[in-house]
Amino acid sequence: MLYCTDCKRLVEGPVCSHCGRRKLRAPLDADFCMVAELKFPEAEMLKELYADNGIVCTERSVLGAGITVKLGMNLERMRLYVPYNRFEEAEQLKQAFFDGEAVLMPDDEIPS
Ligand SMILES: [Zn+2]
Repeated sequence: MLYCTDCKRLVEGPVCSHCGRRKLRAPLDADFCMVAELKFPEAEMLKELYADNGIVCTERSVLGAGITVKLGMNLERMRLYVPYNRFEEAEQLKQAFFDGEAVLMPDDEIPS
């Protein structure tokens, strides 16, 4: 698994499938990686779930503020990013979130 610093995504293989960048590097623990792209209300809920689990999460608007003003917040899409060292955990939480079984504060902590 490699990391594209332009897209902030984890990618398979030598070339980024999103932007075509060839200069990829191994991800570092602190690299923010895109974990999800969601509609605004869902993104807010997932963000809260991450916060409850102590995962730092940053977000970026896909459309940009100008368009959001015209179309309204509910059409906005957000990209969520988490540090690489929590990425797997964030993936699992996202999965659970969409399966409707999101559990807050799991007690089976993964030792680091
Ligand atoms: Zn890329």
